[in-house]
Amino acid sequence: MDIRDGVLEAIGNTPLIRLKRASEATGCDILGKAEFLNPGQSVKDRAALFIIQDALARGALKPGGVIVEGTAGNTGIGLAMVANALGMRTVIVIPETQSQEKKDTLRAMGAELVEVPAVPYANPNNYVKVSERMAARMAETEPQGAVWANQFDNVANRQAHVETTGPEIWEQTGGRVDGFICAVGTGGTLAGVAQALRERRPDIVIGLADPMGAALYSYYATGVLESSGNSITEGIGQGRITRNLEGLSVDVPFQIPDEEAIPAVFDLLEHEGLCLGPSSGVNVAGAIRLARQMGPGHTIVTVLCDYGTRYQSRLFNPEFLRSKGLPVPPWIERGPSVEP
Ligand code: PMP
Repeated sequence: MDIRDGVLEAIGNTPLIRLKRASEATGCDILGKAEFLNPGQSVKDRAALFIIQDALARGALKPGGVIVEGTAGNTGIGLAMVANALGMRTVIVIPETQSQEKKDTLRAMGAELVEVPAVPYANPNNYVKVSERMAARMAETEPQGAVWANQFDNVANRQAHVETTGPEIWEQTGGRVDGFICAVGTGGTLAGVAQALRERRPDIVIGLADPMGAALYSYYATGVLESSGNSITEGIGQGRITRNLEGLSVDVPFQIPDEEAIPAVFDLLEHEGLCLGPSSGVNVAGAIRLARQMGPGHTIVTVLCDYGTRYQSRLFNPEFLRSKGLPVPPWIERGPSVEP
């Protein structure tokens, strides 16, 4: 018998999938951790579960309480799922620039959604700051209390990957993993997996795949937080050293433009049947670069963060892609080849 006692027990233990074309092109084994197969359909389910469990364990959150968070979407979906399963409510503050699909999913799941203009972190009206203030206010007014999930600086997020994602990758590869690389939103995934794998193999190579417009590539390459350019990716691209990133050292940082990441998404869809979101394209493009740098014969793991349908209106929208100067996959505009 294999029965999970509720959806929370279905979080994690995702498969590791060999990416055939990337592996063949580099002579390495390039493996993707299939996080889109989590029940909330992204890597953030793990962080959501650990953040809520930690708040419950600390007594900061009680059954019937409210979880408040600022999120690009996936963390909110994970929090709403975990909260529903545990009899709690969620209030989610989201920048209005995020995909309609993620907002619709959050509303469908019963999260109370607060859309705010997308402004930089330094601005007091930034979505993260708004969620912090709302949580502080609601902690006073909600009968069962309210907590701010604070995914960027709450290290329960990183701990999810120290205790689950990293050890799973180690077990699944039988300890034969030479490199790990992914993009950073909060840094929980990269820093947590790096910590778990380095504990088991101190000389493992840790790479960063940073989108344009983020400041971490320059930080890990030169020590200075500097950004330029922009990206259509969502959920990744950090401008500061979050608490989850503190203590992380990156061996090989790369900056991945959309012109490299988005074709990687389409290539995986067309040839391997994997329909992934844009951050997975950054990750896979980064894994290919790391493989080329390390040379043939290495095993490199990256993260397939979420599913492509979450970005239908952008990633598979010819007008949107053209407006960003990105290639349009030919099958999107092609009619059927046969008559009905
Ligand atoms: N990809 C997507 C689609 C995400 O939503 C996130 C989280 N915001 C990430 C990658 C990055 O994960 P982390 O927060 O662990 O750095």
